[in-house]
Amino acid sequence: MAPSRSRTLRRCQRVLYWIPVLFIGLIACWSYYAYVIQLCVVSMKNIGEKVVCLVFYHLLFIMFLWSYWKTIFTKPMNPSKEFHLSYTDREQIEREDRGEGQQEVLRRMAKELPIYTRTLSGAIRYCDRCQLVKPDRCHHCSVCDKCILKMDHHCPWVNNCVGFSNYKFFFLFLADSLLYCVFIAATDLQYFIKFWMNGLPDTQAKFHIMFLFFAAAMFSISLSSLFGYHCWLVSKNRSTLEAFRAPVFRNGPDKNGFSLGCSKNMKQVFGDEKTYWLLPVFTSLGDGCSFPTCLVNQDPEQPSTPSAHNSTAKNITETHPFPAKPLRESQNHLLGSGQTWPEGVSDDEKGQLGMSNPVMVIENET
Ligand SMILES: [Zn+2]
Ligand SMILES: [Zn+2]
Repeated sequence: MAPSRSRTLRRCQRVLYWIPVLFIGLIACWSYYAYVIQLCVVSMKNIGEKVVCLVFYHLLFIMFLWSYWKTIFTKPMNPSKEFHLSYTDREQIEREDRGEGQQEVLRRMAKELPIYTRTLSGAIRYCDRCQLVKPDRCHHCSVCDKCILKMDHHCPWVNNCVGFSNYKFFFLFLADSLLYCVFIAATDLQYFIKFWMNGLPDTQAKFHIMFLFFAAAMFSISLSSLFGYHCWLVSKNRSTLEAFRAPVFRNGPDKNGFSLGCSKNMKQVFGDEKTYWLLPVFTSLGDGCSFPTCLVNQDPEQPSTPSAHNSTAKNITETHPFPAKPLRESQNHLLGSGQTWPEGVSDDEKGQLGMSNPVMVIENET
């Protein structure tokens, strides 16, 4: 009885989580009707103005829907299987009392993983619930009940976790919805003024025009502050969670630990090719499990990675690629996005370089 009741409860909860998305969807539908039909078709008398407004409006509407859709339906990425505890490790951890014994097992595991961050007390970051060593910038989301790579926050407005896999889409969603609202407010302004001067015919269109302006102006104000905040986060290479609590490295917390400079920080989220920056297609660099940091050399426990040196791809293959254990399960998007590899790098080496690849790309362009 009890388990089925909790299952029903969870199902109800899952349905309720969609309410904010439905709310935004309904507002978007109404704004379409109010702008296209009531403002452009019914109220605009100038054909040229009508055409220009309709063309630009539809362009912005499509971009807004596209980025919103991608933010909602892109599954957040979870740590690859290398971060999960093996059966024997799990047994050992359960046998050990909390504390030193457990940390011993985790430290042994962490030696083969590309992790630089620790808990505030210097311990290896471990998720009890998912039974894994947390990759850098990964956090457990209590709503999704999963560890999410480069978790930014759980967003109720998209009913999804915003993290490595969809942060670019979320950022574009903010930008596109802001543009959409500003465009509506700007083109609706003169009709809004006419409304107050009693210059509009007495039809239902005038009320749509008035509410459209209010809604667009209100959303523009709130979205611009949120968008500004995320621009700042991207330029500093911080997630929302990291802005509240700085990641802890071997030498203590460092809020700029992942920052490589504004231009490289932006490229980490938007990719190398500027053509794709404004499109909600995945172009973020890396695999979400490891991130280049300028603090690597200060960590005596970890072997240094190419991010610390000005090394070329060639000598990365000659020195021991990090991590020692190839993370084959990690989805390396760089390999799939037409990145060119220097001659003499075999497919196997490319696989092994999977983790260091983003570092390499960032290092190679200056
Ligand atoms: Zn977890
Ligand atoms: Zn979540």
